[in-house]
Amino acid sequence: MAKLDHDPIVVLNETWCKRCGLCIAVCPFHVFEPNEEGLPLLVKLDKCTECQLCELICPDFALEVGPLKHVGKVKGEGFIPLTTASKS
Ligand code: SF4
Ligand code: SF4
Repeated sequence: MAKLDHDPIVVLNETWCKRCGLCIAVCPFHVFEPNEEGLPLLVKLDKCTECQLCELICPDFALEVGPLKHVGKVKGEGFIPLTTASKS
């Protein structure tokens, strides 16, 4: 798999996210883990290939993946970039 020429960005709307866990389950590279509330946490962002499976499977359109310039244009208020975080 070719390495990306930029850092992937995942943005999430926490209000829209219903904590169903589908994005966490579908990611082939285990980029996410749930936090204690069930929200997706980025734990292995360096493994993300921007395949967009997580974005496509989200029933609530709460997630988007791509370069920051792109997602900033597509998504609006309420979407915040997920940061790499520990599970605590
Ligand atoms: S874009 Fe693909 S690799 Fe990246 S977090 Fe989503 S499902 Fe995982
Ligand atoms: S698939 Fe969408 S609604 Fe479900 S946990 Fe992921 S971001 Fe939230």
